[in-house]
Amino acid sequence: MTHLPIFMDIKGRQVLVVGGGELAARKVEMILKAEGRVRLVADSLCLALEELVDLKAVEHHARAFDADDLVGCLLVFVATDDEELCKRVAKQATEADILVNVVDQFDLCTFIMPAIVNRSPVMVAVSTGGEAPILSRVVKSQLETFLPTGLGLLADFAGASRDRVKAAIPDGSLRLRFWENFIHGPIAEYVLAGQSEAAGNLLDETLTKASRDQGVESQGEVYLVGAGPGDPDLLTFRAMRLMQQADVVLHDRLVPAEILDLVRRDAERVFVGKRRGDHAMRQEEIGQLMIRLAKEGKRVLRLKSGDPFVFGRGGEEIDALSSEGIHFQVVPGVTAANGCASYAGIPLTHRDHAQSCIFITGHAKDDKLDLDWDKLIRPSQTLVVYMGLYSLPMLCEKLIGHGADANTPAAVVDNGTRKNQQVITAPLGELADAVAKAEFLGPAVVIVGSVVTLRERLSWFK
Ligand code: SAH
Repeated sequence: MTHLPIFMDIKGRQVLVVGGGELAARKVEMILKAEGRVRLVADSLCLALEELVDLKAVEHHARAFDADDLVGCLLVFVATDDEELCKRVAKQATEADILVNVVDQFDLCTFIMPAIVNRSPVMVAVSTGGEAPILSRVVKSQLETFLPTGLGLLADFAGASRDRVKAAIPDGSLRLRFWENFIHGPIAEYVLAGQSEAAGNLLDETLTKASRDQGVESQGEVYLVGAGPGDPDLLTFRAMRLMQQADVVLHDRLVPAEILDLVRRDAERVFVGKRRGDHAMRQEEIGQLMIRLAKEGKRVLRLKSGDPFVFGRGGEEIDALSSEGIHFQVVPGVTAANGCASYAGIPLTHRDHAQSCIFITGHAKDDKLDLDWDKLIRPSQTLVVYMGLYSLPMLCEKLIGHGADANTPAAVVDNGTRKNQQVITAPLGELADAVAKAEFLGPAVVIVGSVVTLRERLSWFK
């Protein structure tokens, strides 16, 4: 280990900053956040520092550095281009046993500043021992995406509940289990989602139960999560987090392997998917399975393609959960229409082309399409058809039969957002033939409307 990692309490302590530029300003802001007192020595100041001086937040000396400036200081920061000055301050500080940090001059530092991920009061510090500051920043940004933004709220909530939990569960090891369940369970999920009232209520309920039976059973829950149309980069932060903490995942055919691979390795995987006409598991059965697993205390991830509430029957699947008192949350995903439109370079709305957009399902019942055709064929409107590949010839024929112009630009996006994405554009009257030749297997969406012409210029995804 090249450095001792510590978090220092500098509240009310004197810190010297030498230098008046932007880099000095960043240090001053940081010291003020940690409630230290700043003595600033610099001839001239940048705007940010001038403001802080005006606000009397720092003590400013507009002159050259003097050894006396070090008196009474706990730490020193030097942020100036004057190399001689850097060396002089570093030397005198070190001789006086005061810790010193010289910005970008590792050799002169007796302490270095880590890159931080701030979820105050939770703070993650990253250091490469001064070897590769860029690498620290990369690690930091990976942590930024991984750690929920509400982590600080969670720490505050836990801190504020500590005494009550201790009173309700006096046994130390049971209390430890309670906290483990808390972090991975529905109370924490409520806090992270900003639902502090629901979190408080559930905590009350859990503590009442725990103090009654002195047992802390973990309660399961269900996460109904949208996995997007296929490109794993389109997952939301929350989806990723819940995928990491699930005990069991129920997934269907449209969720690709690259996304399933991101689910916690130890999680049990259950395929409940369906193909046209070949249902691995009925909707009610999926609901019942989720209830059973959650009652066993499992964290159940129901991973659905696209958005769970867009032609996903997500609503039906979780309907039974609430009547059973099982906690659940719904995480939106990028729906196929949005993913395909973006990756095909077809804006769904556009000032010159379409002011509205309508999503429909082309899933035919008994080989019939029962749709409100007149509503679908409107000028300045884009139509997106999900599950329309199989019924495409009938769909195009019906649209034209109800008055749509056979020359209306149209497209089919097959395997949108995925490496094997294919797009075919053709006038509505010729689309079905063109698609038949291409032998698409889906999943695919159909986009109809003059916005399709924009693809010629806006296509970018190869
Ligand atoms: N809930 C999903 C839709 C499920 S219905 C969502 O919000 O996207 C299944 C239909 O979605 C497929 O028949 C197809 O029309 C569409 N679909 C899903 N993924 C797709 C993809 N990667 N490319 C094109 N269409 C897709």
